[in-house]
Amino acid sequence: MLLIRCPYCEEERPELEFRHAGEAHLVRPSNITAMSDEDFEGYFFIRSNPKGLVYERWRHIHGCARFFNAVRDTVTDKFVTTYKAGEPKPDLGKPKARLPRKSARENVGKGKPAKGRAEPR
Ligand SMILES: [Zn+2]
Repeated sequence: MLLIRCPYCEEERPELEFRHAGEAHLVRPSNITAMSDEDFEGYFFIRSNPKGLVYERWRHIHGCARFFNAVRDTVTDKFVTTYKAGEPKPDLGKPKARLPRKSARENVGKGKPAKGRAEPR
């Protein structure tokens, strides 16, 4: 069972008590009515969705009912840390994001590179 630490209750509780609430640290535009359709689409619908560490909002819906932020690794599904809403992003040291190497992205749609073949630099 996945346990999530609520930073307000200060204890780990089962995942079933929580609800995911989207990407964290999104800045709401000051004047939405003046935005172009493309800018509004980017703000409202487009999310980063990286492979690796993500900053997310969660809500302890069956506990204190408060929103908080979490850093979760999308590869391992492990929570790195949780922190109260309004607090800055935690300093996690060196970034652990696992983005595909440039050479791998360039090969998309061109088949898999042969095993043991040196990657171009
Ligand atoms: Zn709580």
